[in-house]
Amino acid sequence: MSVPRGRRAVLTGMLALMSAGLVTGAEPPSGETRGPWPGAATVVRGEDSVVIGHHVPPARLRDLASRADRARRAVGRIWGPVRAVILFPATDAEAAALAGAGSTRGLAAMATSDRVIVLPSGYARLNETGRDVVIAHELTHLATGATRGGRVPMWLSEGFADYVGYRDSGIGVREAAAELAQEVRAGLLPTRLPVAADFAPGAPRLAQAYEEAWLACRYIAERFGEKALVRLYGSDVGSALGLSQAELTAAWRDHLRRELE
Ligand SMILES: [Zn+2]
Repeated sequence: MSVPRGRRAVLTGMLALMSAGLVTGAEPPSGETRGPWPGAATVVRGEDSVVIGHHVPPARLRDLASRADRARRAVGRIWGPVRAVILFPATDAEAAALAGAGSTRGLAAMATSDRVIVLPSGYARLNETGRDVVIAHELTHLATGATRGGRVPMWLSEGFADYVGYRDSGIGVREAAAELAQEVRAGLLPTRLPVAADFAPGAPRLAQAYEEAWLACRYIAERFGEKALVRLYGSDVGSALGLSQAELTAAWRDHLRRELE
């Protein structure tokens, strides 16, 4: 089953930019997870995940909890442990308010610094595979700290989250990077790795920015190994890979040509 066309608009996650709305304090000592809907929340526990829903049928919450367990294992195989707490609000407006986000158009889920918030309408548009990819992507942001306040380049933060998300999805490169493949086949190769502005909601080449970032990380993992990709997080291209930025960019462009042309 393939992810719907134009999936990027839906798969796009947001970074941990909006933690203020949600991070209301440390977890209570009992280990209970404090939800935003006192008295009205449904809490479903997976093996190693907690899903808190607001007027969402329990079966959908259980489905999400099993996806969260799978995603958590996927993150664990590459990065390390992550605490999976996912909120499933009743409406997109509620999700945006929880995240302190302005526009959430086209999103399926967002990560704050310590939990994932589902966008009900975007999430509903995804197929089964797309849901798994999105949850793994967002849990990766939780595990890694996303851009760590801007210290990690956005291409690495988003690319790594997609690397984990797509790794075991069975989705082929040309399908997962359909928009970029179309450009490359038309002879248009990007000249630099995507920067923060390329990932802004509504950016004209938003889909391609995610695909470029993903393929940069995939290339690094293939050539240097996954451990090197993990090491790059919090390090720099020179010391983690022994390449200059220009060398990495050139090698990545070759990789795009090979994979997508
Ligand atoms: Zn993301």
